[in-house]
Amino acid sequence: MNPNEVAVIGAGPAGLVAAETLAAAGLAVTVFDRMPSPGRKLLIAGRGGLNLTHSEPLERFIGRYGAASGRLEAALRAFPPAALMDWAEGLGQPLFTGTSGRVFPQALKASPLLRAWLARLAEQGVGFRFRHRWEGWAEDGALRLASPEGEMALRPAAVLLALGGASWPRLGSDGRWVRFFPADEVAPLRPANCGFLFGWSEVFRSRFEGQPLKRIALEFGGERVRGEALVTAGGIEGGAVYALGAPLREAIAAGGEAVVRIDLRPDEAAEALAARLDGPRGGVSVSNRLRRVGLSPIGIGLVQEALHGGTREPLSRLVKGVPLRLTGTAPIERAISTAGGVGWEAVDERFMLQGRPGTFLAGEMLDWEAPTGGYLLQACFSTGVAAARGILGYLGR
Ligand SMILES: Cc1cc2nc3c(=O)[nH]c(=O)nc-3n(C[C@H](O)[C@H](O)[C@H](O)COP(=O)(O)OP(=O)(O)OC[C@H]3O[C@@H](n4cnc5c(N)ncnc54)[C@H](O)[C@@H]3O)c2cc1C
Repeated sequence: MNPNEVAVIGAGPAGLVAAETLAAAGLAVTVFDRMPSPGRKLLIAGRGGLNLTHSEPLERFIGRYGAASGRLEAALRAFPPAALMDWAEGLGQPLFTGTSGRVFPQALKASPLLRAWLARLAEQGVGFRFRHRWEGWAEDGALRLASPEGEMALRPAAVLLALGGASWPRLGSDGRWVRFFPADEVAPLRPANCGFLFGWSEVFRSRFEGQPLKRIALEFGGERVRGEALVTAGGIEGGAVYALGAPLREAIAAGGEAVVRIDLRPDEAAEALAARLDGPRGGVSVSNRLRRVGLSPIGIGLVQEALHGGTREPLSRLVKGVPLRLTGTAPIERAISTAGGVGWEAVDERFMLQGRPGTFLAGEMLDWEAPTGGYLLQACFSTGVAAARGILGYLGR
């Protein structure tokens, strides 16, 4: 690699968009990745339709990143959802906006987009070196890479590290880069947009595992989210769960458990339900009474779980908020994204690593998290572009 070249390590969306930005400015760029091919997580994201970004107003969009909003704001404004949408359409991928405001390619998958993108990068002269694992820095500051041909030391003009988080490690991002950073610069990698653990009875699990809970509202810590959830063998996952994921995860970390409540009839007033459910039984079984107020079999099953658990709450209260005592997060290997990462004190506003001039960071390896809805990919693209512009500034371009 010649010393005027820029190295990008990590061929996910953050690394690839940085490579594209740098090459478009006339720089020679080589992308390294430990896997045999690029964009594996992007391809898996395509299985769910590839929710690229979200069409809500930018102010609200920026707020989705919670504590990290302030540090991401400039990057999101400089490369906002509208820019990402133009970019995707420019690659021949027409988009559509769903009723929820989420934006998807019409193809509902990532492979045509990735194919067109790689063709553009090839035209721009971007080089690729696969099966090259970054292994930290040598004493003289050179980048250490290990490949099947052996070890090498790279001294590029600048480098972008875009190594991703630690979810779905078999797709490439295994979070092993953490050990190359000082411990106080990295917030521990934790599952985000992940499932939570709950011990179902065998009767409930065998009947309802894999089934969705539709049109529910989830409540925790004063927050209420409408949506769907899915019963898994070991607990619960899905959009509404992910939306409350960060506070649930932190509550479990602090106290060992978190009680989330599921409103099975979110459009129905509690008083109306109480009148129908909490009066004299008149010989009608609990299941039948629940069925008469319109509960689905899985909803009835959930209330029965709570009753078997010994709750004394009236039926109407259970329908409006059946409690689930969650005891842990599902493993990070199955999470959609990762919380934690390189902390904001360790990078400057150009995304350059303090104390390592010429080393820039982007994507999920930085310490931010967001719910599903296109916010993850958008932040990876926006920080990738921002870090590439940081590199251009650093190199005086
Ligand atoms: C099942 C699933 C569905 C998803 N769906 C969506 C969605 O619909 N919308 C959305 O916004 N987001 C979605 N995401 C999240 C999104 O895919 C990620 O946030 C995004 O891919 C992260 O981009 P990145 O470039 O930061 O990292 P990654 O895409 O993880 O890429 C990092 C790259 O770095 C490489 N690497 C790691 N360590 C090293 C090393 N030491 N040396 C060399 N290379 C290394 C990896 O091999 C990998 O190619 C989904 C994720 C999953 C798992």
